[in-house]
Amino acid sequence: MILMKKLPHSPSHTARAIVVSCIDFRFQDFLTEWTKKTFKKEGFDRVALAGGVKNLPFVIDQVDLSHKLHHIKEVYLINHEDCGAYGKEGNFQKHKKDLLKAKDEIAKKIPSLKVFLLYLTLSGKFQKV
Ligand SMILES: [Zn+2]
Repeated sequence: MILMKKLPHSPSHTARAIVVSCIDFRFQDFLTEWTKKTFKKEGFDRVALAGGVKNLPFVIDQVDLSHKLHHIKEVYLINHEDCGAYGKEGNFQKHKKDLLKAKDEIAKKIPSLKVFLLYLTLSGKFQKV
């Protein structure tokens, strides 16, 4: 007999948030720990793509879908230090600029969402932007 693992879900099929971060393997343990602490048993959608918010149209599309499908209330956009997708231009100021732009665009499209911006350092610190 095969035992199927039941997927966690709320009866109404809703999630609290969407989390957008980079694919970079060096940060996955930090992100997993942070999501456990932040969301506990609450559901969240997760997007990982190289450069985090660098590919903004794709990110906005995912946020929009997450909102439509899972009725999220919050968006966490997490870029990180030493991101290969940004290369040499990827200093804190550039990430901050891109994160703020992403927040602006999301607010224009879906004003009801609360957007949180974070910058993850190589040592695992989540800095508010
Ligand atoms: Zn990266």
